[in-house]
Amino acid sequence: MVKKFAEALAKLKKPALISHIGPDGDAIGSQLALYFWFQDRGIEPMMFNDDPVPDNLTWLAGQEKIREPEKELLDQCDAILFVDGNDPSRFGKMAEYFSNTNKPLYLIDHHLDPPEGIFSEMLWDSSASSTAYLVYTLFAETGPESISREIGEALYAGIVTDTGSFRFDTVTDDTHFAVGNIIRYGGIKPSEIYSRIYDDRTLSEYHLLGTVLKGIRLFCDEKVAVMEVTEKMMSENGCSKDDLEGFVNYPLSIRGVAVSVLLYEREDRVKISLRGKSLVDLNQVARKFNGGGHFNASGAWHPGPVEKAVKELVAEISELLS
Ligand code: 5GP
Ligand code: MN
Repeated sequence: MVKKFAEALAKLKKPALISHIGPDGDAIGSQLALYFWFQDRGIEPMMFNDDPVPDNLTWLAGQEKIREPEKELLDQCDAILFVDGNDPSRFGKMAEYFSNTNKPLYLIDHHLDPPEGIFSEMLWDSSASSTAYLVYTLFAETGPESISREIGEALYAGIVTDTGSFRFDTVTDDTHFAVGNIIRYGGIKPSEIYSRIYDDRTLSEYHLLGTVLKGIRLFCDEKVAVMEVTEKMMSENGCSKDDLEGFVNYPLSIRGVAVSVLLYEREDRVKISLRGKSLVDLNQVARKFNGGGHFNASGAWHPGPVEKAVKELVAEISELLS
């Protein structure tokens, strides 16, 4: 699968690399590592994302080349490579362009249920810890010695963030073997990268976190933790959406908790984040609420109000638990 994928990519002249709305470490890290993979082959891709690179990742080399997608720029590309997501609607305002274009579409991703018949070639494995791991396999196939420091940092950032710092169920010997090679070939320092990504929080964020954690409620025999963030909490602490990164993982450290739910009250709807410990298929839960993702990590939306969302989500999860 990797060899065929690599051969197909190497034939492209001007690929567009695009990742999902609200890009995370895996999205950006994978995109940048791919960018350098193409560059090594004399191909200059264009990188697009609807939303900006999160503040704690702006040190990654090449990130300044990522721009907002525009029809005129996409028209110049000979193919579109979707990174870390498989549903065109996850790719923002150009979703319709992607659905209607005649350009070949490629996919590199680890999310469940990729649509059938739309990709010319894909490097897809829903058991992979991250898309960055799949990008690593591309390098492993075509020569891991080309993993430079900037590539190693991008790959490491993608893997460390999407595995919750190597603690999720998706982490295997393959993950650690890959990371070993990324560190060795890239000559990178994990503690430095970890610190740049995670030790970048503000006191306001911690105050917000305190408020949010204080509001945790447990349901279903204390197996399901629910917490909420309101616009009021955000403004009182002077925080924005990006500051919520990682909050949803905290309740999973409570003894007995198997599912964590974070509800973020937006102007017109409620954003739902779900994280789990392999007891409930959270992709299935998210799909009931216009979302999706993975077995243990997914996202969705509810029209609100928050209490209604809590009730419906708990009912859904409770059914799957029993
Ligand atoms: P998060 O809770 O961080 O927003 O998302 C967790 C996971 O669910 C990510 O892998 C993300 O790609 C996926 N996800 C989040 N929101 C949506 C959504 O609205 N639709 C789909 N299909 N997946 C989502
Ligand atoms: Mn990912």
